[in-house]
Amino acid sequence: MLITLDLDGVLMKNPFSTAVFPIITKQLGERHGLSHKEVMTLIRKEVRVRAARRDYVAAYDWDDIVATVGHSLGFEGAIDVAELVRQNCTPEHIHSYPGVHETLARLKEAGHVLVALTNGFAKYQVPVLEGLGLMQYLSGIYTPEVTGFAKPEAEFFAAARRDFGFPHVHVGDTVAHDVWGAKQSGAVTVWLYHNLLEEIAGLPLMERTGHPKLLEVIAEVLARDLTADGYPDLTPQDCMPDYVMAEINDLVEVAQHVQESHQRGPAED
Ligand SMILES: [Mg+2]
Repeated sequence: MLITLDLDGVLMKNPFSTAVFPIITKQLGERHGLSHKEVMTLIRKEVRVRAARRDYVAAYDWDDIVATVGHSLGFEGAIDVAELVRQNCTPEHIHSYPGVHETLARLKEAGHVLVALTNGFAKYQVPVLEGLGLMQYLSGIYTPEVTGFAKPEAEFFAAARRDFGFPHVHVGDTVAHDVWGAKQSGAVTVWLYHNLLEEIAGLPLMERTGHPKLLEVIAEVLARDLTADGYPDLTPQDCMPDYVMAEINDLVEVAQHVQESHQRGPAED
């Protein structure tokens, strides 16, 4: 079975927030005395401009985004974002989440095909995956600059499926990008939310999506999700996953369940 995995917030923490962005904003802000926060506002604005013109691939091209913002500030140097990522793949800036190695090893042993499906360009994600020893579990990595699509576009999920087929489970932490996008593409969706209410996370896997408070939780998360800005009509119901979990370890049981349902066929599903 194909399992596509979102990276940031699911498998790993990347070095952008604690190292790469602080280094960039210091350099770009120097000339006009701008703070980290002020430069980040300009960077985020540039991302929104690109997303608003539906250029989803360019919206994740950090080297180009930083160059554009730098140019607007009269910055004359050159910043190599990918190089900054490579330099900062150190224990204080990157880590994998608890249970990730063990879960991926178990899924791979069970014969599932594990593939990364991320909006981060490969040049920013592969050094982190390598630094954390996670590449060994993956059969591939799907990224916007290679496929020409980004989450939540259904074609992005379909690109992985073209190579590996159904059944297809997608796991992610962003309800708009990962759950809604994957749902539209026809994949089985798993929402990983580390802050899931204990009263939901403590239920057996199959009973969690029936919890009356889950829709409320999704609505709160969606309201805080900046990536959802581009989809004002999106409702919490659109982002209702097939499975929800607070820890990656539960993915082993999800995979078993999806596999069994698939083998039984849709009539008994
Ligand atoms: Mg994520």
